[in-house]
Amino acid sequence: MAQDIFTKAVHAGDRKQPGTYIPVTTPIYTASSFICRDAAELDRVAGREEPGFSYARYDNPTNAALEELVTALENGFGSLACSSGMAAVQIAIATALNSRPKKVVCADAVYGATVGVLERFFKPLGVAVEWVDICDLDAVAKAVPGAGCVLMETISNPLLRVGAIDRVAELAHAAGACFVVDSTFATPMLIRPLELGADMVVHSVTKYLAGHGDVLGGIVVSTKEHYETLRMLSRAYGPVLGPFESYLAMRGIKTFPLRMERQCANACRIATALAQNPAIERVYYPADPAHPDAATIRRLLPEGPHGAIVTFEVKGADKAAMLRFMDRLKLVVSATTLGDVQSLVLYPLISSHRDVPPAQRARMGIKESLIRLSAGIESADDILADLEQALA
Ligand code: PLP
Repeated sequence: MAQDIFTKAVHAGDRKQPGTYIPVTTPIYTASSFICRDAAELDRVAGREEPGFSYARYDNPTNAALEELVTALENGFGSLACSSGMAAVQIAIATALNSRPKKVVCADAVYGATVGVLERFFKPLGVAVEWVDICDLDAVAKAVPGAGCVLMETISNPLLRVGAIDRVAELAHAAGACFVVDSTFATPMLIRPLELGADMVVHSVTKYLAGHGDVLGGIVVSTKEHYETLRMLSRAYGPVLGPFESYLAMRGIKTFPLRMERQCANACRIATALAQNPAIERVYYPADPAHPDAATIRRLLPEGPHGAIVTFEVKGADKAAMLRFMDRLKLVVSATTLGDVQSLVLYPLISSHRDVPPAQRARMGIKESLIRLSAGIESADDILADLEQALA
């Protein structure tokens, strides 16, 4: 039947069955819905009686490939790719609380927006929030009774505290709480929290996993127990990642272990050199034998890589001096992120922890003179030379 231009414009060339070829990378599936062989199959797929795709808020083949990849990296059961790291943090907490008491016990050393999502999103909905020093197991034991969710970061932002995930998992489970770990700073190269008892692991994919500063994304990796609730909530409120971002994240992840190895080695060299620099008051780095969590670090982190973030305090520097230091950097990029191929500095006071109330910020140890460096893949000598000339 001859079709006119209006019909051809909508249908011609489209909706072809793929042939026998397999593309070497997963294509970007932009379709918002998917056609099944017949309506009966659509009924089974929509009812989740058989695997398949029906609607992109539920599942998308590009996202599914990314989810399978990160599930494999974390040794999990299944994952949900989200539109940002914060969307992942939020839905992980919502999943944990779905059929549990509405109380979150959260490490007091965490990313500023995680403080924000608990204080400004969950608290007004009636969720109780208790902040705890996650490295003090007695304090954790006192806080967990009545909690539905315990939340911590593997290596905390920005002071790089390392809590005993395995011990916190035992305490959380004994209290009936679901244990969520944000592992953005550590990545599965350093630690796999599900193997240590966590129920869900969260990543800001924006950071090391994607790694090139061109993707905003997040992911929750779950054990079998919580996976259905996670996907059920996602189908209902749809915090999912777009397929373009999924594609970029997958491309980034292929080189993530190589980048991470180099970035960790660079960070270690930079931390050692900065510790000897007379302009520096204090360096925070997990490989430091004097680190307050050294025993846990020895027990849980591998021997070589200890993360690619170095946080330091500049001697006697106020906010104006810190801003001048950032402006003097020529190679290291001053931007609100971490984990990219290029080295980055971030001043927590004006960015990551800007909205944290000053008293809580002081309790966290975030001072006016504190700055966070994310080591990139450049030559360590060049990064150091740039830091040194800006400090001089
Ligand atoms: N978790 C940690 C530890 C982070 O540092 C960040 C962002 O810096 C996030 C979560 C949020 O990630 P996103 O910016 O992708 O929402």
